[in-house]
Amino acid sequence: MTSLEGRVALVTGAARGIGTEIARRYARAGARVGVLDLTEDLTRDTVAAIEKAGGQALGLGADVSDAAQVEEAVARIVQEFGGLDIAVNNAGVTRDNLLFRMTGDDWDTVMNVHLRGTFLVTQAAQRIMVERRYGRIINISSTSALGNRGQANYSAAKAGIQGFTRTTAIELGPFGITVNAIGPGYVDTEMTRATAERMGVAAEERLAEIAATLPVRRTGEPADIANAALFLAAEESGFVTGQVLYVDGGRSVR
Ligand code: NAD
Repeated sequence: MTSLEGRVALVTGAARGIGTEIARRYARAGARVGVLDLTEDLTRDTVAAIEKAGGQALGLGADVSDAAQVEEAVARIVQEFGGLDIAVNNAGVTRDNLLFRMTGDDWDTVMNVHLRGTFLVTQAAQRIMVERRYGRIINISSTSALGNRGQANYSAAKAGIQGFTRTTAIELGPFGITVNAIGPGYVDTEMTRATAERMGVAAEERLAEIAATLPVRRTGEPADIANAALFLAAEESGFVTGQVLYVDGGRSVR
């Protein structure tokens, strides 16, 4: 099994959904994990689950779109765990609406959390990683980057993350740092359940509808994404950089 023994990882948006699964998977592989979400209180369940399984975790409260809060959180993990080797930009929100109804706030919120958040966390993380000449940065994009009705803001942000990934891979590669993105398809989390509810469809019905359109005939679980995030975080994956790995049951090739 892939080992992250001796590594320190930071996962944003790790209180629930895909983020909590990545944090727990990294801890099982031996990493000490900074579990970051909007407040430290929100991170308690993930931290407790990791510790109960014999791992080490640190709960961190920060809004990823706030530069000072991000700096402080990164400084804390470095102080507690002595470094930073892996950063996963997973924190996310949706503010779905058809374009003609989308407000400036819907646009700005999504851009701030996904794009500004990814920029700020990556910038703070690379300072530590460049010094140590080693790093793995993993950005969570989405199949929505390919276009998805009602998500002009989210789709633009997730496509932006792909450009950011490629460019930072070029800039940081000489320092032993790889930067890759994962493009999840439809994954069953509170985010997608809330979307189904807003559409007036029962979550299970929506999942079955989507599953029927996919080559693998099922929707994703957070563990599917955590598995890809473990691969990209491994030392052995050092020749993989600037890539977008779609983990989507075949949605993007359908
Ligand atoms: P989720 O809503 O269950 O979890 C997102 C987490 O991010 C929450 O814990 C939330 O508190 C946190 N968060 C939100 N804004 C934040 C901020 N400003 N600072 C710090 N933390 C913040 O969502 P999820 O489904 O687990 O999604 C995780 C990531 O995967 C997101 O980037 C999302 O866009 C992406 N994604 C999800 C799917 C899917 O089908 N679920 C598909 C493609 C991509």
